[in-house]
Amino acid sequence: MSKQVDYLIIGQGLAGSILSWELIKQGCTVHLVDNQQENASQIAAGLINPITGMRLVKHNKLDTLLPCAKQTYQELSQFFSQDFYIEKPMLRILRNEKELLKFQQRIQEPAYHKYLDTELKSAPAILNAPLGIIQQQQTGYLLTQNLLACLKNFLQAKQAYQRTQFVYQDLNIDNAINWQGITAKKVIFCEGYLAIHNPWFKHLAFQLAKGEILTLTTQQTLAPELLNYGHWLIPINKHQFRTGATFDTINLNTQATDLGKSTLLHALAQTIPTLATASIDKHQANIRPTTLDKMPFIGLHPKYQNLAIFNGFGAKGSLQIPYYSQHFVQHLLHKAPIAPEINSQRFSG
Ligand SMILES: Cc1cc2nc3c(=O)[nH]c(=O)nc-3n(C[C@H](O)[C@H](O)[C@H](O)COP(=O)(O)OP(=O)(O)OC[C@H]3O[C@@H](n4cnc5c(N)ncnc54)[C@H](O)[C@@H]3O)c2cc1C
Repeated sequence: MSKQVDYLIIGQGLAGSILSWELIKQGCTVHLVDNQQENASQIAAGLINPITGMRLVKHNKLDTLLPCAKQTYQELSQFFSQDFYIEKPMLRILRNEKELLKFQQRIQEPAYHKYLDTELKSAPAILNAPLGIIQQQQTGYLLTQNLLACLKNFLQAKQAYQRTQFVYQDLNIDNAINWQGITAKKVIFCEGYLAIHNPWFKHLAFQLAKGEILTLTTQQTLAPELLNYGHWLIPINKHQFRTGATFDTINLNTQATDLGKSTLLHALAQTIPTLATASIDKHQANIRPTTLDKMPFIGLHPKYQNLAIFNGFGAKGSLQIPYYSQHFVQHLLHKAPIAPEINSQRFSG
C-alpha cells in the first residue's frame, strides 16, 4: 500500500474513533489501524455521571465537558440516524450518615442545582435503602459499541481503516512518518492501556485499573432509572440489565474472574434481593487507561514532534473524549496551546 494522509491513528477505541471523526470534520485525512481485540470502550458501561464519589463531588470541568459530549453524540446520532447517548435520571442510594450530610450540604450549593434534586425520597420496598434515595439529573450512558461499529464502517467506506497489529519497530520516524508505505504528518497513539508497551510514551504515569462487568436477565420488570449503590445498575430493557464495575489495580489482565462475578452479585443481592436469581448472560473484563494524577495524556512527544498521544481517559471516557478531541484538534491544526494539566509533557521521559 502506498498512501499519504495527514494523521496515522493507532487504536479504534472511543479515543481514536472520536478524534478521527473530529479531524475528518476539519478536512483532514486519517488512516486508522486497530488490532480488533475487545477493548475497554466496547465493554464499558458508557456512563456519564456528573456527581461522583462518597463526597458527591461535581467534576471540576463538568460545565465544559458535558455540553460538548452531548452535542457530539447528538451530531453523531443525526449523521448515523440512530441514538447513541441515552439520557436517564440516576437514583442514588445513600449508604451512610456521611453521605446524607454531604447531600444536605450539596443541595445548598447553586453549582449542584442542575444535577441534584433537592428531595430525599424513601426507597421503594424492593430496594434495601434505609437512609433513602436521591435523584441525580443529567446522567446517562453511551451505547459505545454501536457507536464504534458505525465509525468503523464510516472509516472503512473511506478506505481509512486497517485491521492489523501495529508493530512499533515497523515505524520510520526519521523524516516524515512512514509505516508500511503510508506517509503521514504525525502518528497519534490512542492505544488505551496498551500504551504501556509504547517505546516512545511508556514513561507516562499510567495507573491502570481492571474492571469487570455483568449483563443479566431477570423475570422481574425493571424500573427505568439508572441505579447507583456504590456499584451501578443500567436497565437495558424491561428485563435485561448491566451491573458493574469492579476496580482492581493489581491484577491487570482481561480475564473475567469468579471473584469479580461474586463481588458484583453480592452487592446486587444486598441492594435488590429480588435480583439475586437473575441469570448471567455475559461477564466481561478489560482495563481502564487510568493515570496517576487522574488527568488525560494529550500532546506531542518531547523530542519527536511527529509522534503524539491521545490517551489516559480513565473511567470517564464518555464524558471527556469529545471535548478533548476538539481541544487537541485545535492544537494540531492551529497550534492552540494544550491545557497544561492534560499535556502529556507534564511527565518527562
Ligand atoms: C469495566 C469497565 C467499565 C467502564 N465503564 C465506564 C463508564 O461507565 N463510563 C465511562 O466513561 N468510561 C468507562 N470505562 C472507561 C472507558 O472504557 C475508557 O475511558 C475508554 O473507553 C478508553 O478508550 P480508549 O480508546 O482510550 O481505549 P480502548 O477502548 O482500550 O481502545 C484502544 C484500542 O487500541 C487498540 N490498540 C492498542 N495497541 C494497538 C496496536 N499496537 N496495534 C493495533 N491496535 C492497538 C486496542 O486493541 C483498542 O482497540 C470503563 C472501562 C471498563 C474496563
